[in-house]
Amino acid sequence: MTSLRLGFLLGATLFSCITAATESSESACRKISDKLASVDFLECSDLGLTPSGHTSVDGFPLLIKEYPPLKSRKPKGRILLVGGTHGDELSSISIVFKWMHTLEKHHSGLFHWRINPLMNPDGALRPGQRRTNANGVDLNRNFATPDSHNGAALDYWRARTYENKRRYPGPYPLSEPKTNWLSEEIDNFKPDVVIAVHAPYSLVDYDAPDRKNAPRRIGYLRKNLMGTYPGSLGNYAGIHLGVPVVTLELPHAGIMPTSQQIKHLWSDLIRWLVRNV
Ligand SMILES: [Zn+2]
Repeated sequence: MTSLRLGFLLGATLFSCITAATESSESACRKISDKLASVDFLECSDLGLTPSGHTSVDGFPLLIKEYPPLKSRKPKGRILLVGGTHGDELSSISIVFKWMHTLEKHHSGLFHWRINPLMNPDGALRPGQRRTNANGVDLNRNFATPDSHNGAALDYWRARTYENKRRYPGPYPLSEPKTNWLSEEIDNFKPDVVIAVHAPYSLVDYDAPDRKNAPRRIGYLRKNLMGTYPGSLGNYAGIHLGVPVVTLELPHAGIMPTSQQIKHLWSDLIRWLVRNV
């Protein structure tokens, strides 16, 4: 085969891959904007979210946006930001879109960001969204914490939640594609801090081996350390791996903070990161 023909074939393959990726993220944006009143189609598609190659149980592409280091500046650290772990906390997805648009304008290279705005599309995008994924698993109880290998997550679920379906940890740790992805992402990207957005408890929580650096306040959210659960992200990344996890619990799952509050949350978050990374 001539190198010209080989080049053409490689080019055609690359082109079809790019087209497929584009279509996939466009149709994903269509579904996201159909669901979220606060995110319109262009607000999603203009971001150029990239399918990571991983999918949810229902086959929805896992979309990533990266704000990489800039030539002019060595970043202070790597930050992994995740929204929508619980599918019925729609504000936790929308606010991450708002913050990505802030980074679109103002990414200065201060941090290297990797962002997944929608960790649980199966729960969020189904009619009458729900907390758990398509397998009925609470993704925030499915991580491989040391105790969950001994069945602690299931024991806790049975004894302490009385088998509450909203908090089912799954049959075994990392049984779900998305928790596998996030665990791999933490291994590969090596974030200095993980930020997880939830609702509706109106607080900021912090999990790390040493909690003395916990933010006292982020925007209008006050510190309230909730402790951890077998199989939770805070337990896995924050306590087990020693990668601090800042959890922002917005006050309402279905009502967005005002644009002023969204800005204030972001500026306080950046201020805390600058001091602590
Ligand atoms: Zn949640």
